[in-house]
Amino acid sequence: MAEKITLAHGSGGKASHELIEGLFVAVFGSRSPGVLEDSAVLEAGREKIAFSTDSFVVDPIFFPGGDIGSLAVHGTVNDLAMRGAEPLYISVGMIIEEGFACRDLEIIVRSLKKGADAAGVEIVAGDTKVVPAGKADRIFINTTGIGLLRPGCDISAAHGRPGDAVILSGTMADHGATILCQREGLQIEGGFRSDSAPLNHMVAAMIREAGDAVHVLRDPTRGGVGTTLNELASASGVGIRIRETALPVRQDVRGACDLLGLDPLYLANEGKLLAFVEPGAAGRVLAVMRKVKHGENACIIGELVADNPGQVILQTAIGSSRIVDMLHGEPLPRIC
Ligand code: MG
Repeated sequence: MAEKITLAHGSGGKASHELIEGLFVAVFGSRSPGVLEDSAVLEAGREKIAFSTDSFVVDPIFFPGGDIGSLAVHGTVNDLAMRGAEPLYISVGMIIEEGFACRDLEIIVRSLKKGADAAGVEIVAGDTKVVPAGKADRIFINTTGIGLLRPGCDISAAHGRPGDAVILSGTMADHGATILCQREGLQIEGGFRSDSAPLNHMVAAMIREAGDAVHVLRDPTRGGVGTTLNELASASGVGIRIRETALPVRQDVRGACDLLGLDPLYLANEGKLLAFVEPGAAGRVLAVMRKVKHGENACIIGELVADNPGQVILQTAIGSSRIVDMLHGEPLPRIC
């Protein structure tokens, strides 16, 4: 274990995983050994609930397409939805720096409420702490959420099977590119913005259409599609083949990534999901996704295979192939 915590430990990539597995899971234990899920599924009487928590430290706190408030709702709502649960209730905990403008706080609070209303969840609990000026950067928000599992629903990162289609619900890297451009003071050309959005309505439509043919769902947030696919390949014990030509990236986002020297495969998304779906149902699921909000650009980007379990292989545009590893190296802190 490293001697001190570094920014890489919070990047969602290799170092984060080492910290989670090597310390948190080692000490706390796990209900699903070897598999890290987006939310815990727990029994509550005759029902099953999903339970998840997430903290938001994004910088800047206001950005094209949203702010730290909307992001905090969407992040937790989506983590509940990724187990097939219907999100119901969330709590909001805030750590605010002394001197923070009340007007900005009000904008963020209204944004939390608007996001909750759009997702159909109720904010039912909260906490406020204020720390002296200089001891925190403006505002940090934690949201915790509870959702009700649909009867018979058993979606898990471990349930991918060889043959499953890999569906991505839309363009990659919009959120990460937006935040980084804002931070670098780069003028955003083409008007792309964060994709921050609730995905629970899309998930409901997918499950209504295909039921248990939807094996795996995950939102590729920190670490991007590349890191998330690696997590899922390991959890399911399968190989994943994706095609570079099938990966959807906006032209202007690609331009910004080139400028910043970053690969869109590793940039955060906050309103996208990856789904592993039985091949026979993939076409139907895709059609349903394209009809709902935030799913218009959904597409199949590859498939699961039995060979090379745990590995993600990208077939490049020129016909060669390369291994897509987890995010490591240069961390991109405070992206969400
Ligand atoms: Mg997630």
